[in-house]
Amino acid sequence: MRVYFDHNSTTALDERVLEAMLPFLKGEYGNASSRHEFGTHARKAVNRAREQVATLVNVQASQVVFVSGGTEANNLFIKGAAAYLKPTQVVVSGIEHPCVAKPAEDLARQGWKLRKLAVRPDGLVDLADVDAALTHVTGLVSVMLANNETGVIQPVGEIAAKARDKRAWMHTDAVQAVGKIAVDFEALGVHAMTISAHKICGPKGAGALVVDKRLELKPVIHGGGHEMGLRSGTENVPAIVGFGAACELAQERMDKIAGHLQALRDRTDQGASALGAVIFGREAPRIPNTTYFAVPNIDGETLVIELDKAGFAVASGAACSSTSTEPSATLLAMGVAPELARGAVRVSFGLHNTAAQVDDFLQVLSAVLNRLRRLAAIAV
Ligand code: PLP
Repeated sequence: MRVYFDHNSTTALDERVLEAMLPFLKGEYGNASSRHEFGTHARKAVNRAREQVATLVNVQASQVVFVSGGTEANNLFIKGAAAYLKPTQVVVSGIEHPCVAKPAEDLARQGWKLRKLAVRPDGLVDLADVDAALTHVTGLVSVMLANNETGVIQPVGEIAAKARDKRAWMHTDAVQAVGKIAVDFEALGVHAMTISAHKICGPKGAGALVVDKRLELKPVIHGGGHEMGLRSGTENVPAIVGFGAACELAQERMDKIAGHLQALRDRTDQGASALGAVIFGREAPRIPNTTYFAVPNIDGETLVIELDKAGFAVASGAACSSTSTEPSATLLAMGVAPELARGAVRVSFGLHNTAAQVDDFLQVLSAVLNRLRRLAAIAV
């Protein structure tokens, strides 16, 4: 039996999402821009999905720009805003996903000043450093709502207020927060937000940049002017329909499953720390499904491979961003020693995981750790 504990990486398509998508993979294959009935059916489906996405994050449907996923949405914001503004400072946290960090680094090669915000040992962006950064004229700020590795929920509302005060445009990558905690665009006070379908039981290949309509962005992909001119290309109607259905499901389920996920997470935290693990970000608010830990003197990659052999799919350090064995940039930014960071393993739960699976996992973890420690002792 294989157990999936890697829901921050991606999730299985929900049965109801699949049902919603199927007609658009079969008979309803119209192009949403066509004037005939095939086209208008597709257009109506896309518009309904736009409403469903908008409802989940409390915006108007016209604020939702469909793109291919979180990576594209983050690129669209950073590049699209930078192309409109005159180069000043771009501020991002030191723990952003590479699809925010890299476009920001690219701006630094185009005359922008790049400022990375310091992160505290508990995994939270340092608000004092936000103030320090904003003493310089700033055009763009991007801070993620929940970190993909630690799950730590960042003070985005407070940062947005500070950014607005300095007339900077504030973006948040909410890919890992949506569906796990309530996310309200208006209440956060951001100008733009990124969401991805495949992290919330929707299909891969759909996502959205949610924008304040007063924002002027330049498109990254030019063509027929789809998505209010911001993202040309024939809409991926089945994926967009699935994204909408996934948002509606997330809305219905979130409160019901949060307690279940947190109970699994807390059980894992307790069990893992009893086995000698250091839990990262434990003192900060976290999304309920995620725990990230390392066992001193145990290599994270090796642990992940051994756990996989025993039937448990978990992620190591920077697994979703890199194939290298460099320690996680997030942990280094938190001041974790590189030797310990190399041991990092992320466990991220989903709706269908159970307490019995966690108990089995902890037993396997204990056995694997004993074996690896014995091997290490022999090698010395
Ligand atoms: N942002 C964060 C925080 C993520 O965790 C991910 C995916 O791992 C992305 C963005 C990229 O999203 P997508 O896979 O939809 O391109």
